[in-house]
Amino acid sequence: MPRRFSSCWPGDCRAAVSLTFDDGPMSQLKIAVPMLTEADLPSTFYLNPRGDYYLDKLAPWRDVAKAGHEIGNHTMAHICARAFRDDPDAPGLESLTLADIEQDIVESKRRLQQIAPSQPQMSFCYPCYMEHVGRGPTRQSYVPVVARHHIAGRGKGEFPFANHASTVDLHYAWSWPAERMPGSQMIGLIESCIGKRCWGILTFHGINEGSLGVAESDFRELVNYLKGNHSRIWTAPVWKVAQRILDWRRENGIR
Ligand SMILES: [Zn+2]
Repeated sequence: MPRRFSSCWPGDCRAAVSLTFDDGPMSQLKIAVPMLTEADLPSTFYLNPRGDYYLDKLAPWRDVAKAGHEIGNHTMAHICARAFRDDPDAPGLESLTLADIEQDIVESKRRLQQIAPSQPQMSFCYPCYMEHVGRGPTRQSYVPVVARHHIAGRGKGEFPFANHASTVDLHYAWSWPAERMPGSQMIGLIESCIGKRCWGILTFHGINEGSLGVAESDFRELVNYLKGNHSRIWTAPVWKVAQRILDWRRENGIR
């Protein structure tokens, strides 16, 4: 018979939700952050601290961290598979080693800690949701590298499945890309977590911006829904949910 456990989530909450945002486009600062802060929905923003002037470029995110949102690591170089392109000499995960990716991840984290010095933990986000280097006979997962340096890693999930606190691989947690998704669909996914007491993660890029964006009206619908459901849905940054899961597993003898 499967073991039974008390709920992992605080108070009477029946599900956990993390709203995650990739790449730091301007609409996140201008639209998403003020809306989320006003609604008391702390979220996670994955940034790329690249170039010599990263401190200047990322300066506006210091206040985002101070407001209680998580600043997360999305690597400096944001390298994805070369197979997206038709150029055999293009940079890509296929030509990287685990040592290469580790070097980037460690330096990227160090830089982002300068933006969010008071944040106790930092989660990671796989560029293009891809967790491998090499190809064919040399292909290897870099999830273990992420696990060495971060409390959690966010990947891409399977519709309609969310993460169970007892079984999720915290270093490749599933998320749902909210690309061009209507507000009602985002809410439906979160509602599906409530019955299963799961952790749902939504991934955003731009708001009213870019090919992967969502409309501001749909985003507002989601924010209003989460704001009105504080008592039954715990909305928290990825690092915080991961920490709670680790503590809860320890208390319940789950490895
Ligand atoms: Zn990205």
